[in-house]
Amino acid sequence: MANKKAFITGISGQDGSYLSELLLSKGYEIAGFVRRNAALDFGNANEIKDEIKIYYGDLHSPESIALALLDFKPDEIYNLASLSSPLGSFKDKFGTIMVTGIGALNVFERAKQIVPDARIYQASTSEMFGAPTQVPQNEDTPFAPANPYAAAKEFAHRMAVIARHDKNQPQFIACGILFNHESPRRGLNFVTRKISAAVACIKNEKKFGVPLNEIGKPIVENGKLKLGDLEAKRDWGYAVDYVGLMWMMLQHDIADDFVAATGEVHTVGEFAKEAFAVVGLNWEDFVETDSHFIPPVQTGPLCGDASKAKKILGWEPRTKFKDLVKIMVHADLAKFS
Ligand code: NAP
Repeated sequence: MANKKAFITGISGQDGSYLSELLLSKGYEIAGFVRRNAALDFGNANEIKDEIKIYYGDLHSPESIALALLDFKPDEIYNLASLSSPLGSFKDKFGTIMVTGIGALNVFERAKQIVPDARIYQASTSEMFGAPTQVPQNEDTPFAPANPYAAAKEFAHRMAVIARHDKNQPQFIACGILFNHESPRRGLNFVTRKISAAVACIKNEKKFGVPLNEIGKPIVENGKLKLGDLEAKRDWGYAVDYVGLMWMMLQHDIADDFVAATGEVHTVGEFAKEAFAVVGLNWEDFVETDSHFIPPVQTGPLCGDASKAKKILGWEPRTKFKDLVKIMVHADLAKFS
């Protein structure tokens, strides 16, 4: 039997690269959909670029999606591309809605015309729950997005469910409602990675090449790391564990929604404390708060109940919070040496 073919949008991102590695290990043929850039850089997919087929395109352009699908004819489509920063989405509302919301619909609609039997994974998010009163949150918790990113994701999620139930031409679109998942490949505009990179720069006494934060300043300035709300509560898992669920969802006999989460909640302050402790430092000596990093509308506390994924698919996260922090700090100690 021929190898299965998977088409992954957002392959240069954190999840796209880990998912590609997983699918390559299962013998899949992979195509990645990437935005063209002058440096011809494939981000997190650079390491595997020779093992995958690249299609240049943009979720803004239904034409570019159609051309890739017509040529590659995938069995599975993983729609991971998005402008994925909740805080950043307040500064680019239209861009976020066009890529993260309408862009997903472009993928669903083009797939329906060109590869109607392809199974689709849609990257939904726990951010859609907003500031929920129900704790923990599961697949039945009402959505109440508190930022433009979450609103765009909710639109895409609802369009996926509608397409799934279309009596004339139902599509297999499964939605993973994933809680925060992190790794050394997480973007530097996300708080966990900002912390692990800052710990590494401070410990290694790095003077040059300190990475920049989302407002264009070095993440460590005058020996200090600036963060937003230290009391914000999140459910953080390890991205490598979570991409396994994406694949499992597309092997299941029906398209459904599944929450992926650890069920364990920590504050941003606790993440920082744990990360500085990995290198024997006291976080309170280095962390300051800065209102630039506090969103105008707050989300959370987010805490997921992934019992449905465990019961039906046999999935559960393997990596514990403390191990995740260690993995990220050790990777950044080597990267920012
Ligand atoms: P990520 O690292 O930010 O990757 C996003 C990807 O989308 C990048 O490859 C980016 O390409 C691509 N992209 C952005 N705009 C595009 C456009 N207009 N056309 C085509 N591609 C575009 O995100 P991630 O952490 O891997 O997350 C994967 C997906 O899961 C995202 O949809 C995210 O919103 C969702 N999600 C993530 C989490 C989490 O905690 N990580 C939780 C729930 C849901 P460039 O390299 O060109 O920027």
